[in-house]
Amino acid sequence: MVEISRELVQSIIVQRPSQSHKGNYGKVLLIGGSTNYGGAIIMATEACVNSGAGLVATATHSVNLDALHARIPEAMFIDWRNRSMNDLIKQMDVIVCGPGLGMDSVARGLLHSLRESVTSQQTVVLDASAIDLIAQDRSLMPENAGKIILTPHQKEWERLSQIRIPYQNDSANHTALNLLLPAGNGILVLKSNHTKVYNCQGEILVNPLGNPGMAIGGMGDTLSGVVGAFCAQFGASMEVAASAVYVHSYAGDCIFKTDYVVRPVKLSAKIPQVMKELSSK
Ligand code: AMP
Ligand code: MG
Repeated sequence: MVEISRELVQSIIVQRPSQSHKGNYGKVLLIGGSTNYGGAIIMATEACVNSGAGLVATATHSVNLDALHARIPEAMFIDWRNRSMNDLIKQMDVIVCGPGLGMDSVARGLLHSLRESVTSQQTVVLDASAIDLIAQDRSLMPENAGKIILTPHQKEWERLSQIRIPYQNDSANHTALNLLLPAGNGILVLKSNHTKVYNCQGEILVNPLGNPGMAIGGMGDTLSGVVGAFCAQFGASMEVAASAVYVHSYAGDCIFKTDYVVRPVKLSAKIPQVMKELSSK
């Protein structure tokens, strides 16, 4: 079992060249936030900005727009009913779909647009409702993306893979990932107190960090934003996804030193500092 090492993460988070500009750090589109789950897309967007994506745009239900604008002025916001999602998706490097998306027909339609528009030049990160929607209808999987990173917790993975939680061992998980994405472009981030990252080729990286203060709603939404930002800046690979997991937990461990509960927004605010520390060897 190979652990995600500090050295691996340090090799990914390199210092930024002085002449670089936002175009060097990728464009991320987040899709999520239905009427009842605005907080999830706020946390995912904020984490994405805090993790260094060059440009962040969020497509959401109109009820969330004011809160998003007020909280994260660095990002752009789009009412998903007023804009051709296909055109928007085509302009992006990474699309994070799922935080607070919900399970209604609008959500299904958005996933359908993603499936129709995404190309092999792009990375898709699927979390939460996006995973549950694909569990209901496998034809919604955006399989044409260059890389597809799934970030389920164990219950979501049970619904998608049909493997009950007690039977989610490495061999079964690997087989299920290959069945879902036979072209070999899948990465599975299976979240738990010991999150594991799998690729289709049978490699596994295990997260050595994290703490029970992180067992709180919104923690996974935050991770999806970090994964999106990391893929945009550093390229999509299992090592980059694993580095996002590590940084997320490292920031959580920093907060847990003084706090009984790790609020996702507090973890998120810590990420720029953690990235700075890990970028200077
Ligand atoms: P979600 O269930 O989608 O909100 O994701 C929960 C996030 O919090 C994942 O990144 C988990 O790895 C992390 N997490 C939850 N509980 C623990 C725990 N007891 N120890 C470490 N990390 C945890
Ligand atoms: Mg979640």
